[in-house]
Amino acid sequence: MSARTLSIQKCASYEQIKVKEAIIKLLEPLGGIKAFVRSGNKVLIKPNMLTCKEPERAATTHPAVIEAVASLCHEAGATVLIGDSPPAVFGRTEEFWEKTGFAAAARNSGAQLTSFETDAKVPVKFFSNGREITVHLVKTLFLADVVINLPKMKTHNLTRITGAVKNLFGLIPGLAKAQWHKIFPRAEEFAYFIADLGHQIPVTLNIMDGIESMDGQGPAGGRVVKSEVLLAATSPVTIDLGFCRLIGLDPATVPTLSRCNQLNWGPKSFDELEFAGCPPEAAAIKNYQVPGTPPISMIPDFIINFMRRLLWAGPVLLPDTCIKCGRCQKICPADAITISTAGAEFDRQKCISCFCCMEVCPVEAIEMKSSPLLSLGLKMRGLKRRLRKRK
Ligand code: SF4
Ligand code: SF4
Repeated sequence: MSARTLSIQKCASYEQIKVKEAIIKLLEPLGGIKAFVRSGNKVLIKPNMLTCKEPERAATTHPAVIEAVASLCHEAGATVLIGDSPPAVFGRTEEFWEKTGFAAAARNSGAQLTSFETDAKVPVKFFSNGREITVHLVKTLFLADVVINLPKMKTHNLTRITGAVKNLFGLIPGLAKAQWHKIFPRAEEFAYFIADLGHQIPVTLNIMDGIESMDGQGPAGGRVVKSEVLLAATSPVTIDLGFCRLIGLDPATVPTLSRCNQLNWGPKSFDELEFAGCPPEAAAIKNYQVPGTPPISMIPDFIINFMRRLLWAGPVLLPDTCIKCGRCQKICPADAITISTAGAEFDRQKCISCFCCMEVCPVEAIEMKSSPLLSLGLKMRGLKRRLRKRK
């Protein structure tokens, strides 16, 4: 077993007993849970609890997966903590735990839930995008003997996919996450920051929940896809590369993976993956829709400044759906949202296209749109890429 080993198992439903059986099989090529967890260990499980939605919406790691992993750790004699920090939790942690099913998963597996918002924070310094930065991560991360990352298989409007590497961003608690969108507004630099951050985090094991995944307008408002797969690896990079392999996405177009490549972190290409369990061909996910490379970030500053009115990509409101809760306004790192009687209004001049507002909207009242000129440019770019591939 190496960091390049990617274990794959098919699993068709979230029936608890089947999920647990599939995860036991999934971990066999990696040495089983006992290769990672010993009696007396303290285990931190980090699922994706992006938003306060039911598990069947596929925006969060399914509780059946959390419960199965937590109970395996518990049976191995460990003390198990489950924690994550949604960007817009705003003091409603218990409500999030209940609605996402995390509370039931903890109860059924003998684990404890931990709130990252009230946890002590540890400063971590590293270089990203050419500058030294300090992030404050939850202390529980550094007190755990074993950290198990449980990402959800999803797309992301900014970073194309949100998998194992990006799930580690949740170790920065709550609203503190939004400021990093402001510091690194362009998709590429933000994705590089995510990879640079992930590289600092001591993760022991990664298990991706792709039994049901999300494509299209992820990470919160996309389509639920019955992808029927679970992935496991010791490296989060291996997981994300495997995810790309299953959906037929070129990893060179995923900026987090490009940065991992530069960092010499994890395998660099599909050829370097060592598959175990189900062959990738048998687990391939057909017609999985991935958002295009985020448009604004691909355009040089001087062009953006010149053509700002013609070239834009940003949020638009579905006014009939907006309930005027103001959550988008609170999270917006660019102070670009006001709430009027008609609902949320977006200031396009201030907007940095981070899509945090989309992530936190409880009723999916925000969509990503790009201007006609930009859409045309992207279509032409896609056409060019297809033609290049055919040659
Ligand atoms: S757009 Fe969504 S988050 Fe913003 S006010 Fe409307 S319902 Fe709330
Ligand atoms: S309006 Fe939405 S996409 Fe624009 S900066 Fe604010 S949170 Fe980000």
